[in-house]
Amino acid sequence: MQRLIEGVHKFRSGEFGNYRKLFRKLSREGQKPHTLFITCSDSRVLAELITHSQPGDLFVVKNVGNIVPPASARGDTNSTAAAIEFAVENLRVSDLVICGHSQCGAMAALLAEKPMSEATPHLRDWLKLAAPVRETIQKNYSHLHETRARENAAAEENILFGLDNLHSYPCVQERLADGTLCLHGWFFKIATAELFAYDPQTRQFSPLAAER
Ligand SMILES: [Zn+2]
Repeated sequence: MQRLIEGVHKFRSGEFGNYRKLFRKLSREGQKPHTLFITCSDSRVLAELITHSQPGDLFVVKNVGNIVPPASARGDTNSTAAAIEFAVENLRVSDLVICGHSQCGAMAALLAEKPMSEATPHLRDWLKLAAPVRETIQKNYSHLHETRARENAAAEENILFGLDNLHSYPCVQERLADGTLCLHGWFFKIATAELFAYDPQTRQFSPLAAER
């Protein structure tokens, strides 16, 4: 905690000077983020850092494994759905990114053979939402024997699963139909901080091109 508090003081007395005007403006005018960025809670994946974004730019949802549940999922799974509705309907973001990543602990847990501990019932239920991803890996990726490769494949398939599920939200359907919302699937490689974007035409993840 000491490190956290020191960090707060360092920010206030240092970098904040560069942001003072921006924060004041955002406080006065409210937020108008251009993008809803859904990514993993993993401490190594920092949406603003890896996209060089400023305060006010991104509406960020972090959850375990950047899972996007279908609109029909209720109960404990509601907060991501609520954020999607708020960002798409109220904030009117123009873009929506689902960003998965390498070495994802959630993907490892999803593919793990042994059942999850009884001490983590919420985590177990949450990961169950992505059970179709696990099935896809078992069905289509039997040629991958290395755990790391299977986990990365699961991270990519989980992004596609999330993009599919986004289509189950009426507010997303409406905005897609009138052409005011674009969906993107990204994969972040931690070791090199590279981003790869899903191309629906080639059905592959390729290095993020400058003009995208
Ligand atoms: Zn993760």
